[in-house]
Amino acid sequence: MAGKRELVLGICAPGIVEVPPDKPPSRPVAYEIDTSDHFYTEMATPDRDELIRWAREIALKLKFAIVIGKSDNGSDKRKQYFRLDCERGGRYVSTNKKLKSDQTGTRKCGCPFRLCGYCHADKTWHLTVVNGKHNHELDKAVEGHLIVGRLKPEERQCMEEMSMNLVPPKNIMSTLKDRDPNNKTTAKQLYNLSHRLKLKMRASMTEMQHLSKRLVETGYFFKHRTVVADGSEHVQDILFAHPKSISLFNSFPIVLLMDST
Ligand SMILES: [Zn+2]
Repeated sequence: MAGKRELVLGICAPGIVEVPPDKPPSRPVAYEIDTSDHFYTEMATPDRDELIRWAREIALKLKFAIVIGKSDNGSDKRKQYFRLDCERGGRYVSTNKKLKSDQTGTRKCGCPFRLCGYCHADKTWHLTVVNGKHNHELDKAVEGHLIVGRLKPEERQCMEEMSMNLVPPKNIMSTLKDRDPNNKTTAKQLYNLSHRLKLKMRASMTEMQHLSKRLVETGYFFKHRTVVADGSEHVQDILFAHPKSISLFNSFPIVLLMDST
C-alpha cells in the first residue's frame, strides 16, 4: 500500500496552517440538566421526613434518585439540618473510563445536585436548593436505580427468612412485589443479595464443611468417606438421607426410588 495517499478531510489536510485558537479549546460539553425549579418550595413542616419524602417523590418523577448525604439531629436545635444529594453525587469516575452500567456497580460521577433542609426557630423544616443541576443524563428506566430498588429493612428481613426456607429468588421477588406494588427491586439486585447472604452464612467454611454442618443441624442421616492424597483430605463419597426417607425405606424395603442427577 506504499504510495497510497492517506485520505484527509477538510481543515486538517496537511499543508494548511492552523490558526491557533484564541482560547484553549474548552472541555467537551458536559451534561447539565437543571432541575432547580421543581424543588423550590414554601413548604414548612414539623416533620423532617415529610420534606424528604416530598423531594424523593419529585426526584422519582424526574427519573433520578435522592440520597441523604448528611443529617444532623444533634442536641443543638439551631444546627439541625439534613443534606440531600443525587445518587450519583460523590466520587468522580475518570472520564476516559466508561461509566459502568446501571446494574453492575458504582455510577457516581460527582453530580453536584444538592438540597438542604434546615430547622427554623419555630421548629419547622424548610428546604433550600443549593444546586439543582445534574451533570449526567436522567435515567429513562427508573428500575436501574440502585437506591430506588434497595430493600427496606423489613423487606430485607423477609427476604432473608424466605431464603433460609429455600424459597427461590423468583418467588421471593413476587412476594415482595405483591406486598408493595411500588417495589422497584430488580431480579439482579435480589440475586446479589441472596448470594451475599449465602456467603455470610457460610462464613469461612468451605462448601463441604458448610454442607455437613447443615446436614447435622437439620437431623439428616449423614456419612462420608475421605481419602488422604497429596497431604490433604478429600471427600471420596458422601451419603445423606432424610429421617423420613429412612423410616419409609425400613417400612417398604422392596420399593426403592432413585433419582440420579
Ligand atoms: Zn444527579
